[in-house]
Amino acid sequence: MRELQEVLQDWEAVIGLEVHTELTALDTKMFCGCKNSHGGAPNTHVCPVCLGLPGALPVPNERAIESIVKAGLATNCRIERRTNFYRKHYFYPDMAKNYQTTQGPVAFCMDGHLDLEVTGPAAAERPACAFEPSCDEIDGPALPERHEDGSYTAPIRIQRIHMEEDAAKLVHVGGAEGRITAATESLIDYNRCGTPLIELVTRPDLRTPEEARLFMEKLRRIFIALGISDCSMEQGSMRCDGNVSLRRRGSAEFGVKTELKNLNSFKSLHDGLAYEIRRQAEVLEAGEQVYQETRHWEPARKRTVVMRTKETADDYRLFPDPDLAPFDLSEEFVARCAAELPELPDAKRARLERTYGIKRSDADQLAADGAMADFFEAAAGLSAQAAQTVANLMVNELTAHLKSAGCSLSDSGMTPAQVASLAGLLAAEAISSNQAHEVFEIMAQTGEDPERIVDERGMRQVSDAGALQPIVDQVLAACAEQAQQYRDGNQKVVGYLIGQCMKASRGKGNPKLFSELLRTALEG
Ligand code: ADP
Ligand code: MG
Ligand code: ZN
Repeated sequence: MRELQEVLQDWEAVIGLEVHTELTALDTKMFCGCKNSHGGAPNTHVCPVCLGLPGALPVPNERAIESIVKAGLATNCRIERRTNFYRKHYFYPDMAKNYQTTQGPVAFCMDGHLDLEVTGPAAAERPACAFEPSCDEIDGPALPERHEDGSYTAPIRIQRIHMEEDAAKLVHVGGAEGRITAATESLIDYNRCGTPLIELVTRPDLRTPEEARLFMEKLRRIFIALGISDCSMEQGSMRCDGNVSLRRRGSAEFGVKTELKNLNSFKSLHDGLAYEIRRQAEVLEAGEQVYQETRHWEPARKRTVVMRTKETADDYRLFPDPDLAPFDLSEEFVARCAAELPELPDAKRARLERTYGIKRSDADQLAADGAMADFFEAAAGLSAQAAQTVANLMVNELTAHLKSAGCSLSDSGMTPAQVASLAGLLAAEAISSNQAHEVFEIMAQTGEDPERIVDERGMRQVSDAGALQPIVDQVLAACAEQAQQYRDGNQKVVGYLIGQCMKASRGKGNPKLFSELLRTALEG
């Protein structure tokens, strides 16, 4: 198979995502009062409604409707005031009613979009020719806007977000790895049956696996900010199917697509799509055809395998559920949802950048996590001159610490005051960045105040030229060879000399000052 980058020069990948998100933040299920939680002994969160017993009547969960309306508003969708629930019929062993309650042609949220900002190495996946208007089909997405630094902004249209209910969990026993093949029996846990789920469907506007990953990440950040779901891909509360097809560059006609299941991480989403694009190119270049089928991504084997082939469209006998009256969402209801929207990640990023003058990439990372952003604002408020230093410490030291300690920000015991104080020491050049790393580690372990750590351990950086000059003289005398190299034009050797000075001062000298003193001595 040819490499992705090469394939994308000749072929245009057309990708559309279907993203399922469980509304884990809700206390109760979609149409009954049962507890909305995965845990618990099997079949303990059940009632006649979610077990589909005869005569049981569903009552929609108002908070679920609020959640989907918020999701729609946050993704620029039109909120349909009049919608219905539909029944989708099928033999579902994990859904005792044998139909799933979902939505029909008109979902709560229609025709939205998200602007995808693609920067850095991710931008390189979209070949230059993809910015030409040659393959602009009627009713297609607007062309991405390309910026000077190679990054671009691509509008990705959202077809709809509809509301549905999840099925029960099938537990296959007796076989290997819990898979259905080779299992001797299957058990059903109805605890999950009827949990509220929203499904977002994009238009086929994504063009590279990187864009698909970035879109999913962006969506996840938005849903987390909305507080509607924990969006855990690992635990399956956010999952995604990737549809992909290829067409010759410049062609307006779509190719036959395949649908990838089991994309349960950002990496799987990217790698699965990348593999599928390469596979389809190989098939098409051999003069064969791609079949419309559902395929399963196997991360361990790095390949996709056929799950099922779609020969004709499934006929689910979709019709409006007579047990659920049509919805007429009032203006007040929608306005209240809009008023309750939190500041969304893009807006937060822009505000952090503007208010604190920090780098865009740092603002982006901080804005992605509400708790991190709040912590940053508290710390930056205490140390206004050192806002960028606070951001550096959080994006580097704090993030690394939380990752290695495997704990959340709130569990870390770290306070904004500590980080602000450390940033103040750094900004005042009382300590070097190497020392700041050390102080951070000690602070994380002991909870002590940085000022105290620095004083007690005698770590204060020496920024007094009078005290550092003798060290510089001593180092230059010992390193006559390097000094000559510098005078002969090899400026880089000053790094070595600074290192020697740092060593001689046992790490306490201010490296910037050493650099200045060395240059003065060598050039004088
Ligand atoms: P299906 O009926 O097979 O589920 P839909 O038309 O409902 O197909 O679309 C499902 C997803 O597939 C959407 O995200 C859509 O954008 C995407 N899609 C549709 N056609 C194509 C195509 N030719 N190539 C890639 N993705 C596509
Ligand atoms: Mg589909
Ligand atoms: Zn129930």
